[in-house]
Amino acid sequence: GGLLLQGKTALVTGAGSGIGRAAALNLARAGANVCLLDLIDERTEDVEKEIRSIGREAEFFDVDVSDPGRMEQAIRAAAERFGRLDVIFANAGINGTLAPIEDLTPETWDQTLGINLKGTFLTVKNAVPHMKTNGGSIIITSSINGNRKFSGFGMSAYSASKAGQVAFAKMAALELARYRIRVNAICPGGIQTNIGENTNSTKQLDKIRIPVEYPEGAQPLEHGPGRPEQVADLVLFLASEQSSHITGTEIYIDGAETLL
Ligand code: NAD
Repeated sequence: GGLLLQGKTALVTGAGSGIGRAAALNLARAGANVCLLDLIDERTEDVEKEIRSIGREAEFFDVDVSDPGRMEQAIRAAAERFGRLDVIFANAGINGTLAPIEDLTPETWDQTLGINLKGTFLTVKNAVPHMKTNGGSIIITSSINGNRKFSGFGMSAYSASKAGQVAFAKMAALELARYRIRVNAICPGGIQTNIGENTNSTKQLDKIRIPVEYPEGAQPLEHGPGRPEQVADLVLFLASEQSSHITGTEIYIDGAETLL
């Protein structure tokens, strides 16, 4: 058939919710079998069922992306299950605890950087051995935060992790080009997901609000957040051969939010 990812295997971290969920479903609709990595949660089992109901294979691996041992096991098991890995979507992430820098604890810093940045490294590190023969595409979910926008007080750890992901994507693109593995970062603006659910913030922070005012005559595409499905379409494009000459770049998907 004419499906973009027929016969390919995709692996998605943070696949149980939000952007990861929408991307997993989109990749499956385009023909891919999908390995779903997330923490233990029945939401990911629902995604697994949904993908099977559209006629692709899906397998849920419960894993914390910041755990080196479990990540090595899970990604090896995923590659063995499907015989190949072609598309990697390193997407799992948290806002973590938001706090002014002087109140930010080293534990909070380590947790946020551990999941968002080290988790990305572990995903890519463990996938590469299974992609070297056939090549493929790696997509990393960064953010406008830390790259183009200060969108909230108290987000220094989050922003550092998100900027780190872009630098990592660029170095990985150069290092892995010899295997025909492309690596790109995507930088979404506000997207309607469940990421706020587990976000903690300190009391001081709640007092500080930054008003959003647009210059006269200019506005972003949306006056609210974008949808996960819109990001999932970008992920599919980067996953497929439609983007065969795109690597080592960061792509903003924010409705022009960061130009204002
Ligand atoms: P979400 O909370 O809806 O989904 C994130 C998923 O990641 C959840 O299913 C969660 O269980 C999983 N996850 C969290 N910690 C994990 C861990 N240690 N190991 C494995 N899985 C883990 O949030 P989302 O908005 O879809 O977030 C996806 C990515 O998008 C994140 O990297 C986030 O930083 C990024 N992002 C989100 C927005 C936004 O506005 N929603 C904007 C820019 C970037």
